[in-house]
Amino acid sequence: ELPIEIALDDERATQRLGQDLALALRPGDCLALRGDLGAGKSTLARALIRCIAADPGLEVPSPTFTLVQSYDLRIPIAHFDLYRIADPDELVELGLDEALGDGAVLIEWPEHAGDALPSGRILIEIDEGPEDSRKVRLNGPDQAMQRIRRSLAI
Ligand code: ADP
Ligand code: MG
Repeated sequence: ELPIEIALDDERATQRLGQDLALALRPGDCLALRGDLGAGKSTLARALIRCIAADPGLEVPSPTFTLVQSYDLRIPIAHFDLYRIADPDELVELGLDEALGDGAVLIEWPEHAGDALPSGRILIEIDEGPEDSRKVRLNGPDQAMQRIRRSLAI
């Protein structure tokens, strides 16, 4: 399976990608969201979580200070932001393993997780382009990539 590369023209396109990924999501999935500050990691995560919740108005704060926010949904979701994590060992107390056992995990700043992430994670890299555009690259295990392709209808 080759990586998927998508051009996102604006914020709405990023939100639509989040919704498409929500439809492909399965319990046990780990989505690693890479990209600079302001790339759109939280925007994508928020759209995905709201879609799983079937609630477009659901409050989805960035877990910048709490490091993790959990959502008890059809698929339970734990949304991590590891920008401020001091040590990857903290992920044990933050409940990463339980979260992966219970449902799906979204992780911003996965490069701060050391080797704590499952090898089967789905890597989502967002690069900024001109104006509001972004380029996103998705890569992961074949089965997950096939689900995502189906959801994106590509
Ligand atoms: P991150 O979590 O990666 O730091 P956020 O999602 O919190 O980023 O913020 C992204 C910011 O960029 C928001 O202010 C959003 O309105 C803006 N933005 C502009 N264009 C896009 C786009 N195509 N995708 C996502 N966010 C965008
Ligand atoms: Mg963020």
